[in-house]
Amino acid sequence: MTQQNQIVAADAGTDNPLLRDWSGPFGVPPFDRIEPGHFRSAFAHAFAEHEAEVAAIAADPATPNFANTIEALERSGDELTRVENVFYALSGAHTNDAILAIEREIAPLSAKHWNRIRMDEALFRRIDMLHRARDRLALSAEQKRVLERHHVKFTRAGAALDPAAKQRLAAINERLAVLDTAFSQNVLADEQSYALVLDGEQDLAGLPDFVRAAAREAADERGLAGKHVVTLSRSSVEPFLQFSARRDLREKTFRAWIARGDGGGATDNKAMIAETVALRIERARLLGYPTFAHYRLADAMAKTPEAVRSLLERMWAPARMSALADRDAMQAIVQAEGGNFELAPWDWRYYAAKLRKARCDLDEATVKPYFQLDRIIEAAFYTANRLFGLSFAPLTGIPVWHDDVRVWEVRDAAGRHRGLFFGDYFARSSKHSGAWMTSLRDQQKLTGDIRPLIVNVMNFCKAGDGEPTLLSFDDAKTLFHEFGHALHGLLSDVTYPLISGTSVLTDWVELPSQLYEHWLLRPEILRRFAVHCDTGAPIPEDLLRRLIDARTFNQGFITVEYTASALVDLDLHLQTSAEGFDITRFEQASLSRIGMPAEIVMRHRPTHFGHIFAGGYAAAYYSYMWSEVMDADAFAAFEEAGDVFDPATAKSLHDHVYSTGGLRDPAELYTAFRGRLPTADALLRKRGFSEAPA
Ligand SMILES: [Zn+2]
Repeated sequence: MTQQNQIVAADAGTDNPLLRDWSGPFGVPPFDRIEPGHFRSAFAHAFAEHEAEVAAIAADPATPNFANTIEALERSGDELTRVENVFYALSGAHTNDAILAIEREIAPLSAKHWNRIRMDEALFRRIDMLHRARDRLALSAEQKRVLERHHVKFTRAGAALDPAAKQRLAAINERLAVLDTAFSQNVLADEQSYALVLDGEQDLAGLPDFVRAAAREAADERGLAGKHVVTLSRSSVEPFLQFSARRDLREKTFRAWIARGDGGGATDNKAMIAETVALRIERARLLGYPTFAHYRLADAMAKTPEAVRSLLERMWAPARMSALADRDAMQAIVQAEGGNFELAPWDWRYYAAKLRKARCDLDEATVKPYFQLDRIIEAAFYTANRLFGLSFAPLTGIPVWHDDVRVWEVRDAAGRHRGLFFGDYFARSSKHSGAWMTSLRDQQKLTGDIRPLIVNVMNFCKAGDGEPTLLSFDDAKTLFHEFGHALHGLLSDVTYPLISGTSVLTDWVELPSQLYEHWLLRPEILRRFAVHCDTGAPIPEDLLRRLIDARTFNQGFITVEYTASALVDLDLHLQTSAEGFDITRFEQASLSRIGMPAEIVMRHRPTHFGHIFAGGYAAAYYSYMWSEVMDADAFAAFEEAGDVFDPATAKSLHDHVYSTGGLRDPAELYTAFRGRLPTADALLRKRGFSEAPA
């Protein structure tokens, strides 16, 4: 008997809201009635139903054709998708001990389920037969693409391997699913268990009102009412590091922040990293690739590790030079202030703020009152209206997973319903760190005109009661970024679920999001939406100008901390053996080889690098920079048109990028939009780098 069957026996339920039709408004999942206890039986039921559907396709006596094989596959698993979407929305944004336990149970069961489907011999024979005949099948371009993508996914999952290799691969996948889940739960546990309590005015030295208010709110949320708390959420740590005059406390917090998953004990991730690396090497070998990176990149725009390294290294040298020059300038400030110490990683943000003040006459405390969360949300909506004709109307009475979640109905220029947008903006201890977009339902037209339910999750520090939540400029950029992903989901206009919205190659998926960030820093947007939280006055013209001029400030640091993470990720997945693998030694060796400045730490150190150990970006963290080459070049299309809302360019962007999902090869889509592929020159310019002479 499988473990799955035991779970059914243990808590089969007849009254499970996850398994009934969602008849509420817009078919939104009934979050108000869903209990963690419903998931076990819902998953078991959905796995079994999906398996039966797929078995019927594989055993169909009729000759395989697109309808009875590919389209049937696209229709299958609807219940599982629904249960998964709800579960992972909760496990990411509002988890608890019960959900964490179910997550650990479901991860290997889900891997086992997909192994059974993707390694099914009879099923793959049908897909392979259709794939060989694809040019003779009279398929639409979209159908042909969907057939090809299914074939790629099955092949890459091991469908064509011999039985012994399949069996080993299946065991590897199940174990990796367990490791992946444990990794992210350990990071969450380290974040939840940490709170730097600030006691009295001395500990608060240097902190402006908005940082104090956020620290009060964080204390409240953790049951420490009346105190001030710094958490390991980026939106909490970074402002503290930027403003706190207490060097000792900066060091303390910073060390805790970069030690997530690396603290020894039950939540340490190092042994799991070694095991993960070894299993990924073995998986790649079984599938015929020399390393995991080769395997991963074969199904990406970049295609090879060499192409990735070439881009990362091209940016690395000028970024490092720029960062080192900034370091020297900051060390001079330390000296001039009589500080008798070498700049350390926990000093960077504090002195960078002083350097920005000196160079650009700009400081966070002056800028921040102009970036109210609600106005920045409006700015993101306004931009979508100007570019794509969308409008957003707030909805109440929609079931959500937490009181802080807000919902809007999205309509197009003709007033037609396009979907719902859910915004979950505030940090809380039940939420994983970071920011992401996800969906509760994807757009598709195969089973009716199915409209998407799209979610943005962020970790902004919530203001106290009655106060407007203020964002840093980086927070505002994050909001625009995730909203760009949201539009990719909302504007999706395809027939088949497999290629809907953001179901695209990883190094293409960051284009719609990063491109969207460009509009935030436009005078057209700032004049209208950057208004003072107390007076309502628009941002003064000279401040606006200084803000825009400062856009390349500290780009050396930002690029170095990012690129170091991307290079370590690449190096890690180019390993051909994991014998005696030690992630600490590996990290040091990899960083010393590239000449990592001692004053900068990787944006994500391996022990808490969820992107690559718990999030599908393994050997693919470079994707942000790959997409940025395109977004820098793509935004230039609007600048060349002389209008950042140029209707013709916006229409082309909609038709070839935001609405197309995985309809075509990304390089073809980009070329259709821009007439050619981009080079890295626009990116070097955007970041304010000149190329290194040597
Ligand atoms: Zn993104």
